[in-house]
Amino acid sequence: MIPYGRQSISHEDLAAVEAVLRSDWLTQGPAVSRFEAAVADYVGARHAVAVNSATSALHIACAALGVGPGSRVWTVPNTFVASANCARYCGAEVGFVDIDARSYCIDVADLARRLQAARAVDALPDVLVSVDFAGQPCDYAAIADLKREYGFRLIEDASHAIGATLAGARIGALPVADITVFSFHPVKIVTSAEGGMLLTADADLAAAARRLRSHGIERDPARLTQPDQGGWYYEQQELGWNYRITDLQAALGASQIARIDAFLERRRALAQRYDEALADLPLQRPWQRPGALSAYHLYPIVLRDADQRRQVYERLREAGIGVQVHYLPVHLQPYYRALGFAPGQFPVAEWYAERTLSLPLYADLTEAAQDCVIAAMREALK
Ligand SMILES: *Cc1c(COP(=O)(O)O)cnc(C)c1O
Repeated sequence: MIPYGRQSISHEDLAAVEAVLRSDWLTQGPAVSRFEAAVADYVGARHAVAVNSATSALHIACAALGVGPGSRVWTVPNTFVASANCARYCGAEVGFVDIDARSYCIDVADLARRLQAARAVDALPDVLVSVDFAGQPCDYAAIADLKREYGFRLIEDASHAIGATLAGARIGALPVADITVFSFHPVKIVTSAEGGMLLTADADLAAAARRLRSHGIERDPARLTQPDQGGWYYEQQELGWNYRITDLQAALGASQIARIDAFLERRRALAQRYDEALADLPLQRPWQRPGALSAYHLYPIVLRDADQRRQVYERLREAGIGVQVHYLPVHLQPYYRALGFAPGQFPVAEWYAERTLSLPLYADLTEAAQDCVIAAMREALK
């Protein structure tokens, strides 16, 4: 079986994890700060806070930005449910913005229309969670203009996009994003088994994220509210969680970051191979935003209609090729329907979700295995 995505583990990764097992620290030790520094250096971010998943990072990001009951958080339907659930954990109301039919990222024209309508009824969003779908950065120049005009905060869900660039800047260090979130789940670009990270240029947001990942506890003497009583002293200043990453995971993540450029290069080369081999087939291939370089977490194609997608999915699955659908629209999940969302509200996301398939793409995918996928696609579309 060729999966749609999987990890790439080296001898160095194994050695890094084993070294932690033989050390004094299994969690909250030196590997965590090493991982944070490696990612911050790589993307050019000022602060990095590692946690046990991107889902936790998104939850912390919302909480650090003050999202709570009565807040409004907007995101897109074409994402993993975690991009919306983070707002619900905080008791906020979720709204959606449609995607555009080329990038499958947020449609900035739809965002502008919805913001204008929301202002008229005094219901502007407090936070937008943008999603760099498949590794492709959103149109952040347009989002920055709208952010300035309407005053929302931005959480960039870059779970797919570590290593992507926009106008020469690495994702994770875009000034428009108050907080950027990465995922290190095994199907993503680099992995720590489970893991996530928040990146920010704001020291107070970083401090809040550090507190919230560990029960709301503050140990930094400069940030205590009462006199420091000594080395044992700490303050629980707010209600946080145990969202800590282990040193085992962080050591794996730090070891993987050393190979990120090779991972990205391989993904981009395989994507280009798909582009060339599928060019004459009746399907829509991924589009490149001018000035951007995708991290190619996914290689999503769009087929003619839902029937053709079902046929191709079944043919490829029978051939042992693990194609997947990214994503079922979040607003159509039963949980969100129960909150009042319905089919027809975000037509482009729904059009896309009925027709898309993600083809296998990961650093260890061999050209021979990719050729099997290409041959099966050609056969299925004959
Ligand atoms: C994978 C993913 C997440 C969640 O990541 P975890 O690390 O598994 O919690 C969130 N958002 C998007 C867009 C993702 O793809």
